Amino acid sequence: MLRHLISKIKATGPISVSEYMREALTNPVTVCDVTFLQFPQRDSRLLTVVVLSQGYYVRNNMLGAEGDFITSPEISQVFGELLAVWVISEWMGAGRPKQLQLVELGPGEGSLASDVLRVLGQLQSVLGGASVSLHLVEVSPALSRLQAQSLTGTRSQEADSEDDPVYRQGRTDGGLQVSWYRCLEDVPRGFSIFLAHEFFDALPIHKFQRTKRGWREVMVDIDPDNQGQLRFVVAPSPTLASTTLVQVDETRDHVEVCAEGGVIIQQLASRVAEEGGAALIGDYGHDGTKTDTFRGFKGHQLHQVLTTPGSADLTADVDFSYLRRVVGGGVACLGPVSQRTFLKNMGIDTRMQVLLRNCSDLTTRQQLISSYDMLTNPTKMGERFHFFGLLHLSRFAKPKTATGLKLEQKSPAQLPVAGFTDMSFS
Ligand code: SAH
Repeated sequence: MLRHLISKIKATGPISVSEYMREALTNPVTVCDVTFLQFPQRDSRLLTVVVLSQGYYVRNNMLGAEGDFITSPEISQVFGELLAVWVISEWMGAGRPKQLQLVELGPGEGSLASDVLRVLGQLQSVLGGASVSLHLVEVSPALSRLQAQSLTGTRSQEADSEDDPVYRQGRTDGGLQVSWYRCLEDVPRGFSIFLAHEFFDALPIHKFQRTKRGWREVMVDIDPDNQGQLRFVVAPSPTLASTTLVQVDETRDHVEVCAEGGVIIQQLASRVAEEGGAALIGDYGHDGTKTDTFRGFKGHQLHQVLTTPGSADLTADVDFSYLRRVVGGGVACLGPVSQRTFLKNMGIDTRMQVLLRNCSDLTTRQQLISSYDMLTNPTKMGERFHFFGLLHLSRFAKPKTATGLKLEQKSPAQLPVAGFTDMSFS
């Protein structure tokens, strides 16, 4: 991957951080580097084709103790169970539509989806015969195979044609249809509840630096002192991104903008506005206050972002203020609230007490307590991770008060939005 990037920069000049991240994480093809070896004494050249690795997400299973990082759904099943309750609560709040598409962006090993489906299965009486289907947006063929294994066992198969927007399809043992897509546009329209956990932080960011001559984009170039390495440089003149993506009233000196995340949140917002439903985004992030958050992870350790690209996870905190700004007014935005607040509002304490009451095995009890601590402790994941929601505006419409009737009809009160204490309208 490093050689591929160096050849690319040699050919076309420094690349944006966004392009660097996209190549290193999600380059879909096995990159072929073609070189000619010269044999002057024989006046001949030998063509060599070196096959280089694909992007990090495309070929890796990076999750878990053996991988590079661990996520909340992998830490405890309770996380997915509480998100399932959120899904049901929003489905009820929307008037219990007959069809429910559950859509997950970036499902990793499929643990969150599997925990959510288990709870939906247990609460079938609440769902009252609504038809549920699962739709997974996953860029990595390797991870899609793992997800299929955990969700459908052997009951899934790849599409015959590469052009098929549904590249894999299967059924859970409960008979629920599961479909895999490369991008959100391919997911069918219809009432949907979207979940995206640690998805937005994996999308490419642009980086910008305030200079005496105005905002300039940070680029990735070849290090002149070591031609086999990369380094950051500041573009000498404005780029299209630096002139369009930085806010005019920006007060920070360094900003990161995830334009791809902006496009995806707009797509989610327009689907929620047009088809009904909701989106719940859980990720580490900030509300437009942080500056340089771009970092790498390898083997659960911080890793230099420009070293051995393609072998480490690259990530940046999600700027929720940016997501809220680009969403516009068609839907209501909720949060961000901290993971601790969200999970406590969702009833994690009660759920943990029930699990502990029913568990006598000392090791399992200790695991339950430490996973609870990991998810909610403010110094661990409790305050670093946040939840952000998009809801259809009708969810907050004031109940109509009937006038001119002797007996005033009582309108049903709106259900409060589970998990969120803090609510704002964009
Ligand atoms: N949600 C999971 C995994 C997070 S890792 C969890 O919390 O455990 C990020 C996931 O997003 C991986 O499944 C990765 O392959 C996927 N991903 C990254 N970039 C993507 C993109 N551009 N489109 C679709 N999926 C992507």
